[in-house]
Amino acid sequence: MRTAIIEKTARDLPVIPNWPDDRFVGAGFSWQAAAGVLSGLPDGGLNLAYEAVDRHADSARAGHPALRFLERNGSRRELSYLQLKRQTNRFANVLAKLGVAPGQRLFVLCNRGVELYLGVLGGLKNGCVVSPLFAAFGPEPLETRLSLGDCSVLLTSETLYRKKVAGMRAKLPLLEHVLLYDESGGHTQVDGTLDLHELLAVASEEFEIVPTTADSPSLLHFTSGTTGTPKGALHVHGAALTHYVTGKYALDLHPDDIYWCTADPGWVTGTSYGILAPLLLGVTSVIDCGDFDAERWYGILEKERISVWYTAPTAIRMLMKAGPELARRHFHPQLRFVASVGEPLNPEAVWWGKEVLGLPIHDNWWQTETGGIMIANLPAMPIKPGSMGKPLPGVEAAIVRHAEDGSLAILGDDEIGELALKQPWPGMFRTYLGQQDRYQRCFVGDWYLSGDLARRDADGYYWFIGRSDDVIKSAGHLIGPFEVESALMEHSAVAEAAVIGKPDSLLGETVKAFVSLKRGREPSEALHDELIGHARKRLGAAVAPKELEFLPSLPRTRSGKLMRRLLKARELGLPEGDTSTLENS
Ligand code: ATP
Ligand code: MG
Repeated sequence: MRTAIIEKTARDLPVIPNWPDDRFVGAGFSWQAAAGVLSGLPDGGLNLAYEAVDRHADSARAGHPALRFLERNGSRRELSYLQLKRQTNRFANVLAKLGVAPGQRLFVLCNRGVELYLGVLGGLKNGCVVSPLFAAFGPEPLETRLSLGDCSVLLTSETLYRKKVAGMRAKLPLLEHVLLYDESGGHTQVDGTLDLHELLAVASEEFEIVPTTADSPSLLHFTSGTTGTPKGALHVHGAALTHYVTGKYALDLHPDDIYWCTADPGWVTGTSYGILAPLLLGVTSVIDCGDFDAERWYGILEKERISVWYTAPTAIRMLMKAGPELARRHFHPQLRFVASVGEPLNPEAVWWGKEVLGLPIHDNWWQTETGGIMIANLPAMPIKPGSMGKPLPGVEAAIVRHAEDGSLAILGDDEIGELALKQPWPGMFRTYLGQQDRYQRCFVGDWYLSGDLARRDADGYYWFIGRSDDVIKSAGHLIGPFEVESALMEHSAVAEAAVIGKPDSLLGETVKAFVSLKRGREPSEALHDELIGHARKRLGAAVAPKELEFLPSLPRTRSGKLMRRLLKARELGLPEGDTSTLENS
């Protein structure tokens, strides 16, 4: 395994000394001191959308491009901070005029496009709790979320409404208003709905933001559903500070950056870092409204002159699968920082970045619950490929084990245990909707328990072992799937690998691997044996897979995570459980 540390070159200069407003570093970080970077509402409250949009629109940066949409029809559309302020004010006025009160739930079910962003930001201005959903969800997952979330306003396109929502309207008695738009710019006329653009056209561009505070609920995000039924995590406006600080320290965003986050806002990454963090830091954010396509994506990096790129291991693996020649046909000298989140990033992928993109990829770790990045290979420090990095300023992490008396034992370096974070930080979720008990069970004293297993090395870097549910116990060994998958990924034929434990009367569990191959490689018995041999050599016979199966592709969530539990259920002939977030690729 390529374990060498990647030291930074002159091109990757540390971020921390470059910032003019670094009033809170040096003397040590505190959230209280950091809060000075936000303006607050004129009357003393705090509103995410005000911090993200109006604060810049009311400054010398008003004309700076805020959002640049690369639309599906090939056109480009840009909104400056001032235009975004006016448009989101219009949207907030539409809600206010309908009598939508602060705290009411607005669901946003949109393909990526201007309406989605106006809906989220305008909804926040009106004090609504906003929940963005994946447009690709089918009617069933939609109904579950809309009902659980007490949806009272829905913003969606006419096509999505007709296909997915119209039939279930009777089952959503709390849904008062449906705002519709036609994706090709025409008018909509559907019974029981309102035409968004007609309402926007007559709405005022002036809006007095509802006086929310740091503790007012802001966003409702459903988890990815990787380990079971998705949970609805409720966040607050105060999370603005987490988005700001992490956008700055973990993503290295500077005012002149052109930034691209590839995540859809239906997943928390696409909201925290696809909408809020870049706007909070006043940069230009590029939004690709299309689907993944390796060639087109390289083209975006080049043509849009992206300088900071935030993506996910699944996308990186797909680019790797497409081969290096494609990458080498594109030039992006302005690209200076690349980060990844969502799943462990195999060391192979970090090195691929260095060799093919010219930049190593910075892995970072967080969850829907944490609201923002908690642990990262920060720009300012060397990268340890395969590690999640170190806790951010203001984040205290530990590896813990439950002691018998119910308390937590804090473990030392190199011991494996559950990754825990000390409360509070501003982006922290405030409950799981309708599951207060489950929420309470996430905490022991001041510690929030993540459900992930990890270890910390002597240099303070954290290493992901696996989700507690995915870890395999075989003949007394604790095997993290990530380690085995990373070893398989080192083989030149392997595009993706997922590993599960199968019950075994003798060993407890045995390791089974599922592998999909790179373009141009075909499954064969010889390759099967070669891969098992490779894993044995790398990991030893006790840890290497005993069985290996080729699949054309591996099951993933819509946020791109491998669904090991589904592979396991299928393997063992058990019910598949909640598959509402499964991507049918
Ligand atoms: P659910 O909670 O419904 O099972 P989920 O945990 O996948 O879904 P998210 O909140 O989207 O939902 O994902 C957070 C999880 O993703 C983390 O707990 C961790 O297991 C995994 N993860 C995120 N980033 C990383 C990373 N850099 N390295 C390893 N794992 C990561
Ligand atoms: Mg989770």
